[in-house]
Amino acid sequence: MLFIDSTHPDMQFALNEHYKYVRCYVWKKLDAKDAGGAIKKCLDPGCPICTKNNIDPYPNIPIDIYKYLNDDTLLELLICGTPEEISAINLYFWELIFPGLEYHSCIEIVNKKHDQLKNDERLFYPVIKSKIDALTKIFNYKGWFDANKPSGYYSAYHLATYLNLRSCVYCNRTYTLTQFKTEDGAKIGKLLRPQFDHWFPQEHFPLLALSFFNLVPSCSICNSSVKGRKKFSLSDYIHPYVDNITDSILFSFTYRESIDSVKVELTALNDDATLQKRIDNTLQDFHLEEMYNAHEPELLDLIKLKQAYSDNYLKTLRNAFPGIKLTDNEMYRLAFGVELDPKNFQKRPFSKFKYDILRELKVI
Ligand SMILES: [Zn+2]
Ligand SMILES: [Zn+2]
Repeated sequence: MLFIDSTHPDMQFALNEHYKYVRCYVWKKLDAKDAGGAIKKCLDPGCPICTKNNIDPYPNIPIDIYKYLNDDTLLELLICGTPEEISAINLYFWELIFPGLEYHSCIEIVNKKHDQLKNDERLFYPVIKSKIDALTKIFNYKGWFDANKPSGYYSAYHLATYLNLRSCVYCNRTYTLTQFKTEDGAKIGKLLRPQFDHWFPQEHFPLLALSFFNLVPSCSICNSSVKGRKKFSLSDYIHPYVDNITDSILFSFTYRESIDSVKVELTALNDDATLQKRIDNTLQDFHLEEMYNAHEPELLDLIKLKQAYSDNYLKTLRNAFPGIKLTDNEMYRLAFGVELDPKNFQKRPFSKFKYDILRELKVI
């Protein structure tokens, strides 16, 4: 579980671009008008959303939803707010459009099959469903953001490119690179990009489907196979844009002599009991220790390296090539294929794992 530093200039650029396009898109879906009755537009005279009529407004939008989403301060907070802020605004918004109805039970009702509904739930179902449907179509992740072509003006491809996070922030085990199919230098189609995990799942938080800090670039295994629709809350789980726990988790290994094999262990060490519990929950639900136990060959390579070079391996390499001008970071990357600086762990899969194991082996 890696940390994404949202104060980094690349992240701020990604956030600004995301806000620019998502706000214009939502205005189009709302058919938003300003106080004087004029159609709302951004200040960019070449805006590919505001200047074209290729996005249809959501028909018969419930008036309360229109009113609150047409509030520019609220909309900016929804798109750009921190995980804590969007979590709070989600509840606030719900109270505004459904006074007196508890958010989570409403979402449960709307996610039930019709024959599972109790009598009183059948009463509320149509009105809740119509508002949830409106929110899903306005914050249209699947139909717009996820479906847009990489050659278009904005899409999941663009966000992934701007974020430029090269390995999965949840597992740091798989590359999450972004690349387009090209022809004569022009982007012509989709090739590869990370998935975007909705940290607050779309099924339960339709209002947050396009919120920047709710879109965590990750590998398909962590997003689809492991986390899925599991409901996370900030009080119980780690959020990669909020918590930097790199120093609080540690990979180690034990040798199991009876079966001549090694086992990877992943432990959390933190003085803060609440944080410790959140880390434990997260490691457990992402099954990270089990994932890394599939990599016994990679671990054995490191152990063999230690056996072959009883002295510091990097020192041995440097002594063997005295003329070579490389920094410690470069030397480490060439030797082990991973990054040494924790700030750069995301650039190469297995960086955190190898860092901890190599330290345990006293190779570094
Ligand atoms: Zn615009
Ligand atoms: Zn992953």
